[in-house]
Amino acid sequence: MAKKQFKAESKRLLEMMINSIYTQREIFLRELISNASDAIDKIYYKALTDDQLVFDKENYYVKVAVDKASRTLTLSDTGIGMTKEELENNLGVIAKSGSLAFKNENELKDGHNIIGQFGVGFYSAFMVADVVTVISKALGSDEAFKWESKGADGYNIVPCEKDSVGTEIILKIKENTEDDQYDEYLEEYRLKSIIKKYSDFIRYPIKMDVKGQ
Ligand code: ADP
Ligand code: MG
Repeated sequence: MAKKQFKAESKRLLEMMINSIYTQREIFLRELISNASDAIDKIYYKALTDDQLVFDKENYYVKVAVDKASRTLTLSDTGIGMTKEELENNLGVIAKSGSLAFKNENELKDGHNIIGQFGVGFYSAFMVADVVTVISKALGSDEAFKWESKGADGYNIVPCEKDSVGTEIILKIKENTEDDQYDEYLEEYRLKSIIKKYSDFIRYPIKMDVKGQ
């Protein structure tokens, strides 16, 4: 008899992952910055084999922007971006890593810098955010799309406007409760120290933009 495949209750799985994979909430920033760095690395690797594509290091960076009034923390990168299908496959399928696939497709051997492989880091954003919005425009595409989710409930994808290639991830930071504090993720000094602790090795500049301190 053919072997049966396990099925998964995806809502429960996502909830479990968000609440138990990581012991520290602050690592969400490391995960999102690594993804941004991976996205820039992908342009870098593409440029190695594509004469039309020039990789000028100055144009590539990650930006962390805080707006206290709207309680948003936004990470933008000038990386390779995602098409509608990639948003669906990479952010809509738990444990699917577009970065691992990229490494395999491009036969990148040891010594490469792309960090992603497990396909779960992105969801750590839901430890600190109650809404996550991803606006992305893929390299070579003139359309942009917006992916939005409140976590276990699922996600939506709609067309939107974005001028340049890359990805913007907007986290609506949770309100403090009696037991849990989230305001710290809107504080410049706190974000800087998390970045220093976990993302010091990132090869692209990490810029910071703070409003309403
Ligand atoms: P991993 O990094 O281990 O692959 P993640 O859950 O962190 O897993 O991310 C899932 C996938 O979503 C990535 O592999 C990548 O394909 C895509 N992705 C996430 N963030 C970005 C980004 N800023 N730019 C482009 N693609 C991204
Ligand atoms: Mg990752």
